[in-house]
Amino acid sequence: MNICTVCKSSNIDLFLKLGKLLYWGCNVCGSKYLDPKNYVSNSDAKKHYLKHNNSITDLNYKNFLLKLIEPVKDKISTVDIGLDYGCGFAPALASIFKSYGFKVELYDPFFFPNKDVLLKKYKFITCSEVVEHFFNPSDEFDKINNLLDNNSWFGVMTTFLPKDELFENWYYRRDPTHVVFYKKKTFQHIGYQRNWQVFFPSENIVLFYKK
Ligand SMILES: [Zn+2]
Repeated sequence: MNICTVCKSSNIDLFLKLGKLLYWGCNVCGSKYLDPKNYVSNSDAKKHYLKHNNSITDLNYKNFLLKLIEPVKDKISTVDIGLDYGCGFAPALASIFKSYGFKVELYDPFFFPNKDVLLKKYKFITCSEVVEHFFNPSDEFDKINNLLDNNSWFGVMTTFLPKDELFENWYYRRDPTHVVFYKKKTFQHIGYQRNWQVFFPSENIVLFYKK
């Protein structure tokens, strides 16, 4: 049965067919997602991620990451331990946090597959340009919920969905490893399902609070 990968509702409709690619739209959470049979293989995904040349010395990239770091930083203290979930092969976000005196563990299924870090609880978790790659978003957000301590923050950066008519030519959709797309309503629903409070501090940023 085809169900929304984000909220598991079966109230979905085919949104767009582009050649072999099928995109579904969820009527409950508002997500748009690629049909799982269109997902790229893990080995192709890894090759694709290695091509991303995100360097911390690049000031534009640093400023981009600060959009997520700043609102999280305001909520936490330097005794708190965080997790950068899906940090990639060059964990720039974590190194910026570390430069401010915070402790950040790293996890990435391809590049830092250290399962031990998934046995602890964290006061903050970040996903920078990660959630759009989730093959099973509902399971991933549940996993993150289990990693979050009481009184903790979860910050996400991803480009939010544009208007429906712009979707087909949207650069973000064209990335073959981007398989799920979110709008404000989607994040509100994700928060609602896990009893997280939801904040939108700036464009393309969502901050969740777990009591
Ligand atoms: Zn949904």
